[in-house]
Amino acid sequence: MINDKLNILYASVEIAPFASTGGLGDVGDSLPEELANNGLNIARVMPKFKGIEEKWALKKSVSIIIKVEGKANVVDIYKYKEKNLTTYFVGSKDYFERDNYYGYSDDNIRFGLFSKAVLEMLIILKIKPNILHVNDWHVGLIPFILKKEYSHIEFYKDLKTVYTIHNLQYQGAFDNGTLNKLNLSYEYFDIDILEYYGKICYMKAGIICSDLVTTVSDNYAKEIQTPKYGYGLDGVLRKYKNKICGIVNGINYDKFNPQTDKYIYYNYNEDNVIFAKKENKHNLQKEVDLPIKNVPLIGMVSRLSQQKGIDLCIKAIEKLANSEIQFIILGTGEKLYEDELARLSDKYPMNVKVIIEFNQKIARQIYSSSDIFLMPSLFEPCGLSQIYSMRFGTVPIVRKTGGLADTVKPFNIDKLIGTGFVFEEYDVEQFVKAINKALKIYWDSNKWNNLINNCMEERFSWENSAKQYINKYKQLLDYDDVTIKTT
Ligand code: ADP
Repeated sequence: MINDKLNILYASVEIAPFASTGGLGDVGDSLPEELANNGLNIARVMPKFKGIEEKWALKKSVSIIIKVEGKANVVDIYKYKEKNLTTYFVGSKDYFERDNYYGYSDDNIRFGLFSKAVLEMLIILKIKPNILHVNDWHVGLIPFILKKEYSHIEFYKDLKTVYTIHNLQYQGAFDNGTLNKLNLSYEYFDIDILEYYGKICYMKAGIICSDLVTTVSDNYAKEIQTPKYGYGLDGVLRKYKNKICGIVNGINYDKFNPQTDKYIYYNYNEDNVIFAKKENKHNLQKEVDLPIKNVPLIGMVSRLSQQKGIDLCIKAIEKLANSEIQFIILGTGEKLYEDELARLSDKYPMNVKVIIEFNQKIARQIYSSSDIFLMPSLFEPCGLSQIYSMRFGTVPIVRKTGGLADTVKPFNIDKLIGTGFVFEEYDVEQFVKAINKALKIYWDSNKWNNLINNCMEERFSWENSAKQYINKYKQLLDYDDVTIKTT
């Protein structure tokens, strides 16, 4: 059995660079690419959000009719092919041509329609994957509709589903009137299928109805089965624990490369990192109007949400901002955090710079200029930012949770091994202690240089993780030969 017999359709509402707000989009970009490089026939499908058609030369393929909200909706399927990867786009004027990807009162209908369209387009386009790999709550209905509504149809008979949870906090829970609007039977409002505290839950549907559930790190796979991290779904996850596994995300080391990155001021590798980072730091200080000096620069690039530990950061900055340190924070998100951070920036103009934007260029400049990167998350399914920071030789300080615990090894000052600083409790004192520990080592340049090198040598490439996905796909299809063909 070789990999080219594996036909995968990967469905995600975010795929970078077409549309992305974070890790989900990054993975939608890099994992399918790696799977294709391993010889799999893989295609992707996502909504055609506003602006995509203007930027990429999509080809319209077919139109299909999807019934939702009591009407027949024309949905256009578009195609975009690059190298060995085809991406399909589900277009709907009414539902996807809007200013934002999410946050509308009819998101239940929008992603319900998308899920139905994905299944319908297979038959019309005669695409016959053996595995549908679907991601997060938006497409949780795909395994459910496949199992409950389509399984009697010959075309869909052997189709298996893999459901990946990138973030269990966002579950897609909606009132049960949704069923009617999606033209689905009310009988599915049942505790063993969709019912969830009086609502229906797309994520629950995905967990229950898929053949395999994966999460994006091993530790998170275990954590979500506990009440503390289960966000109300831990009971369901424990019930289905035999089909759950964790596969850590990787990053694309060619696309994220300080030596070739076009956004950064001074490119570098392990040999000139110390000099280059200083140059980059001074350049960034100049650009953002911070005093140009050789002080530790502490960076953060993040969604500004409770998950990311922003309240801990705010408290820690208050405690540290009067010392010889600078903070630079890039992020967008909850208004409360945006305002609090802006207030800190006003209060400490010599030490704190806050940029409320989603900006890839500034993000790369922060990764390449900072000495330390903060990620004190309350929970973290995998986290990519700490991996990017290590790639750029920026030492991460993380809380010991989820994928952060799996990817950052505490620095051992005697043996000079490890890649960062890890604290356990979600507590500002512990966080500040970890920052101070890092700062102390920062001034010991021999040790610090070792630490930077350890970070830059660390590898969380997709090679390994993609192989784990392939093995899982093969197990699902009962293929005996799980040997991997590498390219
Ligand atoms: P999550 O997906 O939970 O937001 P991850 O760490 O998995 O967190 O991925 C976040 C990704 O989004 C990283 O690539 C990070 O650099 C990027 N990112 C987050 N906020 C911004 C921003 N304001 N501007 C640019 N990139 C950002």
